Amino acid sequence: MTESAGVRLLLVVAVALVDADGRVLLAQRPPGKQLAGLWEFPGGKVEPGERPEATLIRELAEELGITVEEPCLAPLTFASHAYPDFHLLMPLYVCRRWEGTPRSLEGQALRWVRPRALRDLPMPPADAPLIPFLIDLLGP
Ligand code: C5P
Repeated sequence: MTESAGVRLLLVVAVALVDADGRVLLAQRPPGKQLAGLWEFPGGKVEPGERPEATLIRELAEELGITVEEPCLAPLTFASHAYPDFHLLMPLYVCRRWEGTPRSLEGQALRWVRPRALRDLPMPPADAPLIPFLIDLLGP
């Protein structure tokens, strides 16, 4: 989190992991966390001094046990959302190649969904506006 003119900025990176059938992986925010129960793209907070791609590679290993090479992370778009207590900036990457099978290492429920089915899942307000970009890229 950084502070500038009284606005707290939070930089989080997220990724749409896309499987061979064009489905996207979502993770459910666990009980006890803010926005618990909502479905989000995997990712996490960028630590000071960390490159966003390095954050994603680290988070995907920690949360899902998969290995991603940096050239496989293609930037797609980014979310910008004003929460009551901070402003979130969240670049979204797309990744179609990784090593290993994603599995939940931090207790989050996981599910693979078609891009159109994302519309029916409850998502954080920052994530939902990203859906049309994925539908444009991947089809419904
Ligand atoms: O995941 P974490 O709790 O560290 O993220 C910090 C905040 O960023 C969350 O409380 C939530 O408000 C926001 N967030 C979001 N969408 C995500 C990840 C985080 O809106 N995919």
